[in-house]
Amino acid sequence: MYRIPKEEEIRGVLYKVLRRHGSFSSLNKLRHAILEELKKINEEYTVSIKRARIIAARAGFVKVNVKKKHGKKKFEKCPVCGGKLREIKNLSLLGKEVVVGYKCELCKYKGKIYEVPVRYSFHLTK
Ligand SMILES: [Zn+2]
Repeated sequence: MYRIPKEEEIRGVLYKVLRRHGSFSSLNKLRHAILEELKKINEEYTVSIKRARIIAARAGFVKVNVKKKHGKKKFEKCPVCGGKLREIKNLSLLGKEVVVGYKCELCKYKGKIYEVPVRYSFHLTK
């Protein structure tokens, strides 16, 4: 059996572990620390790696640094927080508008076209 904690509970735990550690060098480490704290509240609590990432990116007190590499994937939504992406456009030499990248309005993620996130680190901002 497992239970899904509320978002506020995860946010609270997230703040606690970041206060203690200052930062985390990977999403795995962050999720592990969150999970450990959640288990203290309820043995059956669990959190997926995706949910941990999204809640951290949207928390407002976490700065997420994203390492990217060249990839083929195009994103409809922000690959970090699932928010809405805005296209970054530029003018080509011929004066045509071309999409050169994306910016997330929610978590401030910025990526060039054909860049995919490969690694995250998390830092407390407040
Ligand atoms: Zn985002």
